[in-house]
Amino acid sequence: MTSSEIINFYHSVDTETLSKKANLVCESIYGNKVYLRGLIEFSNYCQCDCLYCGIRKSNPHVQRYRLPQQSILEIVKAGYKRGLKTFVLQSGEDSYYTTKMLTEIIEKIKLLTNNEAAVTLSCGMKSKNDYQSLKSAGADRYLIRFETSDPKFHQYLRGGISFKRRLKALEDLKTCGFEVGSGYMVGLPDETEQTRINNALLCNELELDMLGVGPFIPHPKTPLKTASLHNIELTIRATALARLLLPGANIPATTAAGSLDPLGREKVLQVGANVLMPNITPPDNKKNYLLYPGKICLDESGFECMGCLNNRIATIDKKLSLERGDAKTRLCATP
Ligand code: SAH
Ligand code: SF4
Repeated sequence: MTSSEIINFYHSVDTETLSKKANLVCESIYGNKVYLRGLIEFSNYCQCDCLYCGIRKSNPHVQRYRLPQQSILEIVKAGYKRGLKTFVLQSGEDSYYTTKMLTEIIEKIKLLTNNEAAVTLSCGMKSKNDYQSLKSAGADRYLIRFETSDPKFHQYLRGGISFKRRLKALEDLKTCGFEVGSGYMVGLPDETEQTRINNALLCNELELDMLGVGPFIPHPKTPLKTASLHNIELTIRATALARLLLPGANIPATTAAGSLDPLGREKVLQVGANVLMPNITPPDNKKNYLLYPGKICLDESGFECMGCLNNRIATIDKKLSLERGDAKTRLCATP
């Protein structure tokens, strides 16, 4: 189907039919495999002030932390021993970690994992030169969501940072040779159904390798604290649409989906998501990385989560895979 046929289909069917189709498309490419990525939230310092985010710089209630290189490497070592082949290093925009420090961490991860593991970064906007250095050091993938495809709304939500600048970062990452991930939140205040459709179409246009679609959950210490919380249905429909438009992309079942609904991750894994990201940040730190309230699995180490996730997805006939799981991107819908 072309992208306009997919949008027509999306409008004309109920959620169950949409979901079944998206699951079929996903299984035709990825079978019943769910790729695992170990998520390390290495710093909750951020110089940005995104209105939606619990760790924005203007929130004085956050207990800030930074993991030293040695701790990050120890977590990677433990994860690699348990079979993980992708490590996602996420943080606020924290210039304490210079590009030189990050390149050293990436190089050491590659050494520790015999070059077998993929390194994904999610540390916000940087210059093209910085992205190039990180790629040359061995980083494989980079995640940076555009959050919403409505330029005015984007600029408002991100404390004045323009949508054009965010897209430039995505373009730079692609030019530097990264597998590129982006995506958006679902259920932001004033968002319309058309915004959600435009978001999905933009992902298609960008030919993303990875695409995160997560529910927006209002944080009580942010300017959006009184925004309404939507149920998981919006995220289910958005995930299914994303899968239909980008059959080959890697799409995670987000922790936010699991936090909004106890079975949220299972639900989105049945409508096109094919990735889970157990949070292997030390419990003492991850409880301070609260982008939104009600985040799950704060007391467990991510390694305990791996066992739990295995049991959970067995209930929906899926199987965890410890492969690197590179994306099969070139399968985007044509206009
Ligand atoms: N600083 C980096 C990475 C950390 S934020 C960046 O901004 O790209 C990672 C993602 O968390 C953001 O892209 C955003 O989509 C999501 N997020 C932030 N606040 C949220 C909230 N209140 N509810 C749901 N997701 C949120
Ligand atoms: Fe910082 Fe990312 Fe939160 Fe924005 S969303 S305030 S860039 S951590």
